[in-house]
Amino acid sequence: MCNQCETNPVYEFTNQRKLCKSCFVRYFQKKIFYVIRKFKMAHSGDMIGYKNNKGFRDVVLEDVLKMFAEKANANLIKSSKANKIAISSTLDSETDEITHELMKENSKMKFAPVEKNIIKPLYLFLDEEVLLYAKIRKLKFKEIKNKKDKISLFIDELEEKHPEIKRAIVNGILKMENLR
Ligand SMILES: [Zn+2]
Repeated sequence: MCNQCETNPVYEFTNQRKLCKSCFVRYFQKKIFYVIRKFKMAHSGDMIGYKNNKGFRDVVLEDVLKMFAEKANANLIKSSKANKIAISSTLDSETDEITHELMKENSKMKFAPVEKNIIKPLYLFLDEEVLLYAKIRKLKFKEIKNKKDKISLFIDELEEKHPEIKRAIVNGILKMENLR
């Protein structure tokens, strides 16, 4: 049963907390606001640009940005006048990039939730959470298949055996960047 309202759950966290459809959507939206505020991603008056390539991450990003812009008095634009650019990377896509980059020597890539004017509102969400949000909200998206290489498959396998490992990798980055 949902831990908050005793109806049928649609999602279970690794700590076994369960949420129903509407409590999950509320959790997701609250967390988006928390992430944007915590990492100072955007403020009222900002012109936030984004791309919607119609993948599930993109449609969710657009949905939550619309919600944020309305509440925070920011502007969503598709033109080049943006002072912030929102990208749809998630906990999964970030950890995937991080682990690939760590294999290289002298990596210069940065993995913080905010890099100059680039912001990542979905930074602390798993793909499965983002996908579920898209489905509950009935957002239309295209299936985009990404080819997974050995490293990606290895990380996915690790996550299956040790849930939370992706979160631990991102938390490591936040600690390095003094953002925790
Ligand atoms: Zn509920």
